This record gives sequence, C-alpha cells and structure tokens, in this order.
Amino acid sequence: MELKRWLERGVDAFEAWADTYEEYAAHPATAVDEDACAAGFDELVARLHGSYPFFHPCYAGQMLKPPHPAAVAGYLAAMLVNPNNHALDGGPATSVMEEEAVRQLAAMMGLEDPLGHLTSSGTIANLEALFVARESRPGRSVAVSAEGHYTHARMCHLLGLRVHRVPVDDRGRMDLSALESLLATGDVGTVVATTGTTALGAVDPVHRIVPLARRHGARVHVDAAYGGFFALLADDPLMDGATGRALRAVAHCDSVVVDPHKHGLQPYGCGAVLFADPETARFYRHDSPYTYFTSDRPHLGEISLECSRSGAAAAALWLTLRLLPLTRRGLGGVLAAGRRAALRWAGLIGGSELLGLYQPPELDIVTYFPRTEPAALSRIDTASREILRQGMEDGRNPVFLSVARVGADAFTGRHSSVVPDLDHTRILRSVLMKPESEPYLDTLHHRVEDLAKAAR
Ligand SMILES: *Cc1c(COP(=O)(O)O)cnc(C)c1O
Repeated sequence: MELKRWLERGVDAFEAWADTYEEYAAHPATAVDEDACAAGFDELVARLHGSYPFFHPCYAGQMLKPPHPAAVAGYLAAMLVNPNNHALDGGPATSVMEEEAVRQLAAMMGLEDPLGHLTSSGTIANLEALFVARESRPGRSVAVSAEGHYTHARMCHLLGLRVHRVPVDDRGRMDLSALESLLATGDVGTVVATTGTTALGAVDPVHRIVPLARRHGARVHVDAAYGGFFALLADDPLMDGATGRALRAVAHCDSVVVDPHKHGLQPYGCGAVLFADPETARFYRHDSPYTYFTSDRPHLGEISLECSRSGAAAAALWLTLRLLPLTRRGLGGVLAAGRRAALRWAGLIGGSELLGLYQPPELDIVTYFPRTEPAALSRIDTASREILRQGMEDGRNPVFLSVARVGADAFTGRHSSVVPDLDHTRILRSVLMKPESEPYLDTLHHRVEDLAKAAR
C-alpha cells in the first residue's frame, strides 16, 4: 500500500467533509510563514535522522518497529478531526471503532463479552488491572514473577499494594512450587502472569497458574503486553506445546493486557486492558460535570482511569485490523515470520563456534552470548558490550542489537561450564518482531559472528 497516496486521501477527505459546513474565516493568530515552516521542518527531519533505523532488519535490538502504513493513514485521517475517546461527546465515531477493535482483541484471546478499552500504554493498562485487583481483593497482595515487567512493582507502590516476587525456573518462567507456597499463606489476592517477558520472551504457564490460583481464591491477571498477539499462533506447529497451552489459557483469566503498539502494528499510544467480568465497571464509577451528555449509552471514559484518549489511535487500529484481521492468515502471518526467524537463528547460533544460545526462544526474542576464551561471565560481559557498541558504530554496515542483564545463577543454571566470576553479566538480545528479519537472517547472523570474532 502506497503511504503517500493514502495520506493525501486522508487530507482530501477531511477537507471535503469540512467543506460541507458553512464557510468561516481563518484566524491570523495561528498563521505561520511558509519559509519558516520549511526551515523548521528541515531541522526536524535532520534531527529525526539521529534515530536508530527501526524499520530496517539490521535493527535487531529492542521491541521497536514502525507502524503499518494502514495505521499511519488511519491515524492521520482521524487525527485531522482529533476526536477524544473519553466520551461519546468527544469521539462519537471513533468510540464505536474502539469498541469494535476491542471486541476483536477479546475474541483473539478467547474472552467472551468482556469489559475493555484501549489505553495510552501497557503500563496504564496494567495499572488499571492492578487497581481492579486491589478493589476486588482488599488488603491482599500481588504475586508477580521475578522476570515480570518492572512497572508492576512501581504501579503496586502507587496503589499501596504489597508485591511478592516469585522465583523463575531455568527458562525464565514463573516457578509453580514457589507460587504454590506463596498462595498457601492466603495473603495473595492476585497473581500476575506474563505471556512474553520483556527480556527473554518467556511465557508463564497460565494453564497451570489459573487452577492453582483458583484453589486459593486468588485472581489471575495476564500481562500479555508483548506476547498477546501470539494467541494467533497458539495452535500452530511453530509454537511449543506448553507455550500454546499457556496462550490458550489466557481465556480463563480475570484480566489481560495487550499492547497493539507492540505487535499490533500501531504507533505508540495504544495499549488495551480487558476484564472477563463486565461487572468490573462498578469500580470505575465516577461523576463528571462536563461530559457524558450526548448519550445514555455507557461512554468509554466511564470504564477507564484516563480522561482524554486519542480517537485517532482507535481509528488506526480499526483500519489495520480491517486489512490484517486477527487470524492466522491475517496478522498471524506477521508473527509467524518473526517466530520462524527466531527458531532458525537459534539453530544457527546452536551450531556456531563464536556464539552460544542463552535459552531456546519461546516467542520471537532470541538471547545469546559471545563464546569467550576462557568462558567466564566477566569476559562475556565485556564482549557483549563490545559487540553492541561496535555494531552500532560501524558507519558502513551497522547492526543494532540490545543487551540484557542476567544473574550469575541464572546463567550457570543454563550453562554450567561457564565460570561465575561476576554476580551478573550482560548477554545479547534481539527482538525479531519485523517479518523482514526472516529473509535477512543469514546476513544478520554473519554480521554478529564477525563482531563476536573481533571481540574475542
Ligand atoms: C512493554 C511491556 C510493558 C509496558 O508496556 P508499555 O506499553 O511500554 O507501557 C509491560 N509488560 C510487558 C510484558 C511488556 O513487554
């Protein structure tokens, strides 16, 4: 799809719609000089080129990629109107698009008729889920794995909730016997499981956590901010059986968070939270003297903690899902390419004399380390940082990776022959979330091997 053409159509459509209203005078207060505009714009563009090339498969670092052209075109078309999805008063058209898009997200995860809405981010979506957790289980604490996102502890602090960090197994997944002992104390009101941890892409065994939590009267919230869209591959032979079971079990949780601005091809400003029980709306009840006047239907602001929210974000997601629906053949094809790339790279790294696989990838995040002589954490730490730096600084042929810090016990639990001469080390990490990573993989692998050879 040709982006320029659709951006222009968005502008044309807005102007045609505006022309259906009575003509009015533009005010000089907002007028800007065309030459000043050109100079400012040129400076903006030049400064933007100080970014990393997230669009290119040589960028195999953090969870970053540009939005789909459909999302950009949908966003622009709606942004010219600038609706606010807080209330039907502010976003009558885009609120309905939000409801339709949220229903599709819910169906993808097997939730029937939940309460849900988009948010500005996964962090805010998790904050809402933790707020509901606190209201539903007053006085009780939250259990989250040691590999869970750092914002859970921050948001719990904000909410005055006590947090227990549950240890993980040798694949970075929540340890069930540790969870069971914790639940037996009766203190835990909500277990936060993660499907797709940020560092390793590990998937907590939700299918085993749900029955365990239920036996102890605890709720289950799933942080699927990163991994939620892998539900499209839950039954696919590309996934491990246990991963597929965990992804399918999200259907039985109390709440779930998924970030369309991660794997849903959206620009930033698009998270989502869903609650299995539509009665959850009661925790959000509030009065507003300014809004909620144009309709007796519930407004999205009445079931969300945020006030203003971008209606354009809802329009962008709605249009994207219309073109790439939440099916195996639709958006699933994008996730499958990254997953295949991760599996193939894990195989290449496994056979490499220069690189070692930290652990098998469960999703599309590959973690690996340079093989050093001697094999010691201090050497691996230095070499990983060197590879990261050299890759980025190569002016002609750059490659962008990321690093993750792991503890000595976690490392030696996976690779017992490495000498633990530090209490932690940095390893390399690549998120292969662009389908373009698949055809580029051999080039990427050889580049990283060359960097590892030079860092020895
Ligand atoms: C990215 C992420 C978050 C935070 O979401 P933001 O949209 O960045 O605020 C939370 N949990 C997990 C597992 C994530 O990957």
